[in-house]
Amino acid sequence: MSCSDRDPDCIFCKIVAGEIPSHKVYEDDDVLAFLDIAPTIQGHTLVIPKCHCPTLIETPPETLRKVAAVIRRVLTAVVDATDADGSNVLQSNGACAGQVVRHVHFHLVPRREGDHLTLGSRQSDPVEDDLAARAESIRAAM
Ligand code: 5GP
Ligand code: ZN
Repeated sequence: MSCSDRDPDCIFCKIVAGEIPSHKVYEDDDVLAFLDIAPTIQGHTLVIPKCHCPTLIETPPETLRKVAAVIRRVLTAVVDATDADGSNVLQSNGACAGQVVRHVHFHLVPRREGDHLTLGSRQSDPVEDDLAARAESIRAAM
């Protein structure tokens, strides 16, 4: 499947449509950023195109350009709001590479010195976070 307006079975398309609640931190006509429901660390944010593109290879360059601009803007706010020392931007394509949700997405993960985060097992031990308050602090940093 290539990029399309919407896949009715896709959980991220349902978030875009507002059928599943999420803590949004940024939205425009083409791109959405929202908090990961199982954050590796406080502030873990996902950035997606609103159109349904399964993987990066199927995502048109023009869409990727818009997503990249939002990644930069939201990452700046995430790092600021979490007082981070650095960050990871992670993206996986295909089940063999660890992609669970087949709607292309980028993980924005703030990093602190000594956080001992293991990126390979990022969903095995999710941190407790008040997602509503966290989303508000990131929006305020933008
Ligand atoms: P992947 O493993 O495909 O790279 O990442 C998918 C991410 O989506 C995971 O980190 C997971 O926690 C997140 N996720 C899955 N379902 C939902 C959901 O319904 N809402 C939100 N906010 N995040 C989700
Ligand atoms: Zn989708």
